[in-house]
Amino acid sequence: DEPKAKPVSRKPIDFTKIPVDKLPTVLIIGRPNVGKSALFNRLIRRREALVYNTPNDHVTRDIRDGVAKLGDLRFRVLDSAGLEAEASSGSVLGRTAAMTGDVLARAQFALFLIDARHRSSLGIDILFSSFYVESRDGLQPMDLDVGKWLRKHASGIKTVVVMNKAELLDDITGSLGAAAGEAYTLGFGDPIALSAETGLGMTELHEALRPSLEDYVLQFINDDDILDNNSTEDEDIDSKLPLQLAIVGKPNVGKSTLLNAILQENRVLVGPEAGLTRDSIRVQFQYEGRNIYLVDTAGWLERTKQDKGPSSLSIVQSRKHLMRAHVVALVLDAEEIAKAKRSMKHAEVVIARRAVEEGRGLVVVVNKMDLLKGKKMYESVINAVPEEIQTVIPQVTGIPVVFVSALEGKGRLSVMRQVVDTYEKWCRRLPTARLNRWLRKVMSRHSWKDQSAQPKIKYFTQVKARPPTFVAFVSGKVQLSDTDLRFLTKSLKEDFDLGGIPVRIMQRNVP
Ligand code: GDP
Ligand code: GDP
Repeated sequence: DEPKAKPVSRKPIDFTKIPVDKLPTVLIIGRPNVGKSALFNRLIRRREALVYNTPNDHVTRDIRDGVAKLGDLRFRVLDSAGLEAEASSGSVLGRTAAMTGDVLARAQFALFLIDARHRSSLGIDILFSSFYVESRDGLQPMDLDVGKWLRKHASGIKTVVVMNKAELLDDITGSLGAAAGEAYTLGFGDPIALSAETGLGMTELHEALRPSLEDYVLQFINDDDILDNNSTEDEDIDSKLPLQLAIVGKPNVGKSTLLNAILQENRVLVGPEAGLTRDSIRVQFQYEGRNIYLVDTAGWLERTKQDKGPSSLSIVQSRKHLMRAHVVALVLDAEEIAKAKRSMKHAEVVIARRAVEEGRGLVVVVNKMDLLKGKKMYESVINAVPEEIQTVIPQVTGIPVVFVSALEGKGRLSVMRQVVDTYEKWCRRLPTARLNRWLRKVMSRHSWKDQSAQPKIKYFTQVKARPPTFVAFVSGKVQLSDTDLRFLTKSLKEDFDLGGIPVRIMQRNVP
């Protein structure tokens, strides 16, 4: 008889007090179609990723990164849609497999997803869902390959086998027993069964993960790192909120290349296939000590001729992303600009306008500058873009424009500098006393047509930031004219360095 281990009593760990970048990281891995994205979505509790029925083409090809909430547990979760054991077939799959290796270096834990349905339970599958063809259910040769791959490349990572789609089994104990036996042969210990779709078995997942995650925290997180307040809970405190950056633009302008240049690591697929990054992904990184969430919205403009399929889903999603972004980097193609008379295509104008109307910060990135031949062409592009932006968005002056070559890695730092600068302006809060001193000065500075034309603004205050929004309290029943508002906005932007971002002034009448 083995001696029984004494239960160690310890204080329960409050995972909500661990900073996001210190949380243990769990990688979801498995062959296509086992439900990785579905599980990722359930864990991050957001309908952000695409789950799409395309049996022959799995949609999620990128690695997404989110904070999982599972009961009281918090951990980073990575969805690697792409360990393709059959990577021979093409560039996309090959590159994805390479990336998964890169991601393995970050993860301490893995959930190895398989399909809960045992091969012999095929009759049940046909009954339950017409989507599934025989070759997609149960343990597949590809699962064995994934297992082999994990053992070879991820021996240091604690792996739990997860049998997904368990709700499809009618006789849970019987079929599950058979499937579990098969899953056990993968060599990663006892599997757990759950359903990412219905939530069945999430408690078991919690129980399976909790001891390992607690061990990790006890071993690797210093007490100094533990926060006083709930960092992974609140998302709305100005200063702490990570900058949410959306990189938008037409397919092939170089968004992914730029993103890679910024990250300087291989975390996003780059390639000549238009719309490769169909899914919107979230990557977090640090720039000058600041947390930045990158929301890649490739495919935003990919309004495909056949208005169905994953691309049109991307558009809907990306609108939501744009709303969530603090700063939008709109990428344009320098070569296209040099060829055409106008810098921006209609769709690009629409994005830029929408970003500003929604109160987002906008940074325009002109990419592929390396393709411009000759000084003349170079200069015409450098002059044309800011001018045209001013024309199409007259309400905001001085929107920053950065000229880069993502391919050569040139200008990526200026992009980030402008993004952060824009964000800081966007978050500015000006003290009321200072604003009112300014108001008196600015009102006397301006020469009004006649005394009666001067609006009697009693008081001026900033009511919110992100973007900066002000209220002018006006005496009597007078309405500020558009000219007055333009004058105030312009002065405010000049005197407080708020150029290039949308600034709002509202008026309220007081006796
Ligand atoms: P991935 O390729 O591994 O990321 O798989 P997806 O998350 O895209 O899921 C593939 C298919 O399986 C989709 O049609 C999902 O709706 C479906 N699916 C995912 N999880 C479950 C589940 O728990 N039960 C059932 N019945 N279907 C699921
Ligand atoms: P996305 O669809 O906007 O994400 O574009 P990609 O990043 O996939 O780039 C599309 C193509 O443009 C690829 O072939 C890139 O190599 C190329 N590309 C991207 N940036 C540059 C650049 O700065 N200069 C040149 N010459 N080519 C670039």
